[in-house]
Amino acid sequence: MRGGRAIYIVGPCAAESREQVVETARELSAICHEHADCRMVFRAGAWKPRTNPHTFQGAGAPALEWLAEVKQAFGMEVATEVATPEHVAAALEAGMDYLWIGARSSANPMAVQAIADAINAALPQLNAAKGCSVNAVSQQCNAPKALLIKNPVNADAALWLGNIERLEKTGVPVIAVHRGCNHQPCWAMAHKVRMARPDIPMLLDPSHMSGDAAQVPALMNKIAELGLDGAMVEVHCCPEKALSDNKQQITPTCLRDALDSIVSRLCLVSLICPSESQEELNWLRAEIDELDEQLWDTIAARMDVSKRIGEWKKAHGVAPFQPERYQTIVESLKLKAERLGLSPEFAMQIWDMIHEESLKQQ
Ligand code: PEP
Ligand code: MN
Repeated sequence: MRGGRAIYIVGPCAAESREQVVETARELSAICHEHADCRMVFRAGAWKPRTNPHTFQGAGAPALEWLAEVKQAFGMEVATEVATPEHVAAALEAGMDYLWIGARSSANPMAVQAIADAINAALPQLNAAKGCSVNAVSQQCNAPKALLIKNPVNADAALWLGNIERLEKTGVPVIAVHRGCNHQPCWAMAHKVRMARPDIPMLLDPSHMSGDAAQVPALMNKIAELGLDGAMVEVHCCPEKALSDNKQQITPTCLRDALDSIVSRLCLVSLICPSESQEELNWLRAEIDELDEQLWDTIAARMDVSKRIGEWKKAHGVAPFQPERYQTIVESLKLKAERLGLSPEFAMQIWDMIHEESLKQQ
């Protein structure tokens, strides 16, 4: 946290029906009152960017009315995803407090620019409607309170930073949302953006980062460790019945437990006052832990291929150890190690260990 209240944007992946939206919001508004120290915003996607065109694509514009009802009935601020200029116009018209731009749109700078242009075009009208100065983006006006930009679906820090700039030109505050790629955290990408723009708040999206409800509470501990500004979390009144992302949505009770544990951790942490340099070490450790995981996944996948090669060799009467092939690999490994700035001896040691285990498996 770089000052200010933590922000938690919570609610279902998609607005599915008025009942589902209102019931989820009712449960969340109680938690909202328990955490008055945080800024709690209700989220739900009206339009869903789905991979498969035969699945639920969102309820569309009528869902904005359900969100407006949540705002009215529970006094919660509301957020929805926009992917086109038409979405922007409809969402602002319906009084959405926050607009977020999803990972798929974030991968396309032209889509982000079109959204930024639509916001720019709408602002004078929105402000004029409330009698605000046309040039002032004020909290009192109908202008959105902030624009949230997720990282692109590919781990491209430069593209994410470029999108932040495109949106900043609207004059509306911008918040980055780190949701990882392909259910991997990609901490290195987020670390780059954090270092380049320490002035922009960054939220964690543990739901899309993991794709797994069971991992969401543990990932939320990263908020304090990395000095993030809060989270966007998918919460559904009945996750097993959810029409999209049903494996990653948590229940309101689970969110309550996770927030309570974060608050008690933060109290502990504030006693020992984590410095920015401790946060920096935590970022680097997150990066190295992710690299180690990838290393082990790669080694396990390699052993699997090696076993299949062993089966082929057995079937064709070929000996597991092939000196010529070994020699070719060793030569190219030495060159590669030098190119990568690694000691060739170190690379050889690791390779020999992997190769030896591989032969045992064969
Ligand atoms: C979402 O938040 O529901 C969503 C679609 O997220 P993302 O763009 O990160 O996949
Ligand atoms: Mn989702």
